[in-house]
Amino acid sequence: MSKPTVAIVGRPNVGKSTIFNRIVGGRTAIVEDRPGVTRDRLYGNGTWLDHEFHVIDTGGIDIGDEPLLMQMKAQAEIAIEESDVILFIVDGKTGLTEADEEVARILRRSQKPVVLGVNKLDNTKIRDQKYEFYSLGLGDPYGISGAHGLGLGDLLDQVIKDFPDEKDAPEDENAIRFTLIGRPNVGKSSLVNAILGKERVIVSDLAGTTRDAIDTPFSRDGQTYVIVDTAGIRRRGKIYEKTEKYSVLRAQRAIEESDVVLVLINGEEGIIEQDKKIAGIAHDAGRAVIIVVNKWDAVNKDDKTMDKFRKKIRDEFQFISYAPIVFLSALTKQRLPQLLPMIQQVAENHSLRVQTSLLNDCIMDTVAMTPPPSDKGRRLKIYYATQVAVRPPVFILFVNDPELLHFSYIRHIENRIRETFGFVGTPIKILSRKKN
Ligand code: GDP
Ligand code: GDP
Repeated sequence: MSKPTVAIVGRPNVGKSTIFNRIVGGRTAIVEDRPGVTRDRLYGNGTWLDHEFHVIDTGGIDIGDEPLLMQMKAQAEIAIEESDVILFIVDGKTGLTEADEEVARILRRSQKPVVLGVNKLDNTKIRDQKYEFYSLGLGDPYGISGAHGLGLGDLLDQVIKDFPDEKDAPEDENAIRFTLIGRPNVGKSSLVNAILGKERVIVSDLAGTTRDAIDTPFSRDGQTYVIVDTAGIRRRGKIYEKTEKYSVLRAQRAIEESDVVLVLINGEEGIIEQDKKIAGIAHDAGRAVIIVVNKWDAVNKDDKTMDKFRKKIRDEFQFISYAPIVFLSALTKQRLPQLLPMIQQVAENHSLRVQTSLLNDCIMDTVAMTPPPSDKGRRLKIYYATQVAVRPPVFILFVNDPELLHFSYIRHIENRIRETFGFVGTPIKILSRKKN
């Protein structure tokens, strides 16, 4: 089930990112730092009462050198397309502006629920300044102060009231959700069509289509799959789709909703920075990853070409050395039959739970074969290990002193766990706890 999405729109400097940070809190800060990975927070997860939702700060989406009004229109359009509820922020200190009215006009036409927040009303004396915004025709304005955290509760109450009703039909719990990610023209829609077969009409881009329609379910050999964000894969050509931040944002969302991420690379053109960025997001999110080299039919090759390409991928994508690589062609369908079984396999590994006794045998063997190096005369002791989560698998080692467990030794253990139990295609996490 997809989580609902809230998009924040408004002129520059009205306080969008302040409010975004209030709603999202510290929750997105858990990603590790790696150069080259976009860390701008345009996208996060919020929780209010029992509701979890995505939040997008459209103010962070760089539309280019367009005049302010154009930028705002583009951001409003993105918000309309991407969200279930729009949070429109205006500046109560400055008062109503022409740009606010222009955006309000676009939002009213969209028929999307809009919640109007009048920001910077920091104290009760100026609270009445919200009333002038009634004229925007977007219902009751909520007086808030992002900086001081005032009025946000009432505002969010209204936001969650406007969420669409959850659908009655529960999704197949065993469905494997996957998404295809890659730069324009790498062959994403071709591959979707090749997987589904021609006979299927998969998505409708008609206005008014519910957001769920962008996920495409299908069954093959007794397994249900869902292709996530098929609409995003197929829709192209709008100005904002060409901006890199926007495509990263889209990718981020689709990855979040998936179990398995297919990172598509153009076999004709090789690897670019953006490919790495996207693979990095999938890894950080703990999703299973398959690297798909498409357009292999169009590559001039001899018997060494594939090995060379594979080596290049391993060099460039060291942080996802666990991801299997498949060379295929959406056009000729060469090796296409391998793809779904591969997706199924990595999804299985992603949710694999290892028996505690077998896990401990593996860890104890590892320690016996390669004892941890001592550190200032002290040596790490591992008492036992247990797997605490799946999707991705997370292991906890109970040790005498977590400080003694160095990164290189964690990696050594990870390698042994992988050799013993498989886990092809999925990241695994190894944590430590002190046991007294
Ligand atoms: P954005 O451009 O819409 O994302 O706006 P920002 O969140 O960056 O805020 C713009 C400026 O307004 C910053 O200097 C904030 O500190 C300030 N600001 C944000 N919220 C409030 C508020 O509730 N009250 C006051 N007085 N200032 C605020
Ligand atoms: P998207 O932008 O990632 O969805 O890419 P498309 O699926 O629209 O494909 C972009 C172009 O690449 C189209 O002209 C496709 O016909 C072509 N293309 C896609 N897959 C292959 C392939 O496997 N081999 C070759 N030679 N061309 C392909």
